[in-house]
Amino acid sequence: MSFLYYKYSDFLKNKYNNKVYKLPINLPVTCPNRDGRISVGGCSYCAEIGAGFECLSGSVSVSEQIAKNMAYMKKRFKAEKFIAYFQNFTNTYMPFNDFKNFMKDASEIENIIEIAISTRPDCVLTKQLDYLKELKEKHKINITIELGLQSANYHTLIKINRGHTLSEYIKSCIEIKSYDFDICTHVILNLPNDTITDTIETAKIITALNNNHVKLHALYIIEGTKMAEEYKSGKFNIITLDEYKQRVITFLEYLSPKISIQRLIGRAPEENSLFVNWNTSWWKIRDEIEEEMKKNGLYQGRKIQYINPIEYK
Ligand code: SF4
Repeated sequence: MSFLYYKYSDFLKNKYNNKVYKLPINLPVTCPNRDGRISVGGCSYCAEIGAGFECLSGSVSVSEQIAKNMAYMKKRFKAEKFIAYFQNFTNTYMPFNDFKNFMKDASEIENIIEIAISTRPDCVLTKQLDYLKELKEKHKINITIELGLQSANYHTLIKINRGHTLSEYIKSCIEIKSYDFDICTHVILNLPNDTITDTIETAKIITALNNNHVKLHALYIIEGTKMAEEYKSGKFNIITLDEYKQRVITFLEYLSPKISIQRLIGRAPEENSLFVNWNTSWWKIRDEIEEEMKKNGLYQGRKIQYINPIEYK
């Protein structure tokens, strides 16, 4: 099959030459956009559960969470190597000693070959990166920092109360890259009022900042959030599934083909949801996107001429 987009599974095979699985870990942490440091409301779409509805409880120790998930993955998928994935809320927002202990615990477990840390672009500290570099060198593991950007449109980021705009993201990417860590950026392609122009600009900025991975999501709306109220009172409409698929394809066309795609659409909890993935399963949407690309000869990186400077002729 001709190249459509760079799948994360292919990236893992190329890099590790082995079956590698991510093990989600839930830490007892919060987020400065929820605890009052930046705001108390959080991002307008954020439910209290954060992003980690598939995780074990945060009261279970890191090593125990890893052991349980590892045993399950070994049995079910015959997996051999693992990525410790700190998934929920803001995993760099805690006392520095706690951060060090959690990361140390994960890095010392056999068959953990990488640590992935999900966080906000405005919460990545130099001393944390320094410590991760020590662990990387000591245990020969890789480090990926997963940054929530969601949209390059900073007006949108203000409207959804992200508590940071584009500049914090740019600053953080430059610093993380100076440590030679990987970056995975999370993007929501259908935030209220964002257009296809924002889709394109987001892909271009992620490419320009030399990211390694991207995770795409469609917006899901959970009861009890500010966005749920706005949605119910008709303050915005959600684009159609066909439009979402078109945005994914356009995003991929403007994205460097060196960036791996961890997801084309997220899996979301259906409980308490007002809107999830147009009531369509994520894998069906993924298959339809791939089908559409195949049919029309479209592929990741097809429109990245913008990375070349223009020389006078
Ligand atoms: S940054 Fe993440 S955890 Fe914090 S409020 Fe926003 S979505 Fe929720």
